[in-house]
Amino acid sequence: MTKIMSHNISIQKVTESQVTNIDFNNIPLGTTFTDHMFICDYDNGTWVNPRIIPMGMIPTHPAAMALHYGQAIFEGMKATIDANGNPMLFRADKNAARLNTSADRMGMPNFPEDLFVEGLKQLVDIERSWIPPADGSALYLRPFMYADEPFIGMRAANHYKFIIMASPAGPFFSNRIKLWAEKQYIRAAAGGTGEAKAAGNYAAAIRPTELAKAKGYDQVLWLDAVEHKYIQEVGTMNIFFKIDGKFITPKRDGSILDGITRMSVIDVLRDKGYEVIERAITIDEVQEASKNKTLEEAFGTGTAVGIAYIQEIGLEGETIHVSNESPVGLEVNNTLNAIKTGKVEDKFGWMIKA
Ligand SMILES: *Cc1c(COP(=O)(O)O)cnc(C)c1O
Repeated sequence: MTKIMSHNISIQKVTESQVTNIDFNNIPLGTTFTDHMFICDYDNGTWVNPRIIPMGMIPTHPAAMALHYGQAIFEGMKATIDANGNPMLFRADKNAARLNTSADRMGMPNFPEDLFVEGLKQLVDIERSWIPPADGSALYLRPFMYADEPFIGMRAANHYKFIIMASPAGPFFSNRIKLWAEKQYIRAAAGGTGEAKAAGNYAAAIRPTELAKAKGYDQVLWLDAVEHKYIQEVGTMNIFFKIDGKFITPKRDGSILDGITRMSVIDVLRDKGYEVIERAITIDEVQEASKNKTLEEAFGTGTAVGIAYIQEIGLEGETIHVSNESPVGLEVNNTLNAIKTGKVEDKFGWMIKA
């Protein structure tokens, strides 16, 4: 069945949905994909042939430039269902804009932001039965772009694919996590690609993360590239500290990811009457606060987990313990989840009907 809808997105549906094979109470993380995907090609300077087709393999030339020179960027977001069973997207316009910020840094073409949102809406609408109903569950969406032009040589590619995949995700219960403050390896330096959601940033983080895990930690806490003391962020999350009643999060300096959860948490905290300061913060300051008992709370923020509480931060030879008494982050997480499922008024105007 093929039909043309607004934005001329052609749609080819599967004959039989696989959703009936899914146990929503036990969804394997990251390995389950919905029936369809959205694809668009960049050819001769324009995006052409936006289409929703059955999920499947994509033939790739061995010289596809993304495989050699790494022009590959992505986004991550979630669709939820509101009280009436309608699919909703959280701040999808921000993801559309951020993809293009990443594209600019990586020498890749911008993707039209209205087509990004429209592609998401139509895909989510087709896959609405894949959105797990349980509280805290969601349909994870992964828009991404990569260079698929077959060419050996160092320049920006002329041919790209933009794809959106969807994967159901169960409620994420995060235990308090342990971070390893990394002083040898770095994630991002001034002038680098730290603010781009680029595949290569992750490639460079994999080995240090494995080493931290071998030491018993969950994630790496990245420090600045020069002095190894200014806190940047965590693996796939931005970071917040509550010290002496005030929230502090590293200010954006081009080296940290401009997290949409981060910006939303700042708004919710301020709305609840808390002071939030975006500024440079060192690992020494956090350690000092822990010692004099003013480190009241620390958590990571990101789409995948929402808010992940931090239990401790390991340094060479020392451990920074974080208090477990202030639950403000939890309150913020509940507020965000309630907005995403339409249980409280969306006073920030963040939700988009799919
Ligand atoms: C995606 C990401 C985040 C979190 O961003 P959200 O928009 O909140 O999901 C934080 N840090 C890095 C490195 C990321 O890639």
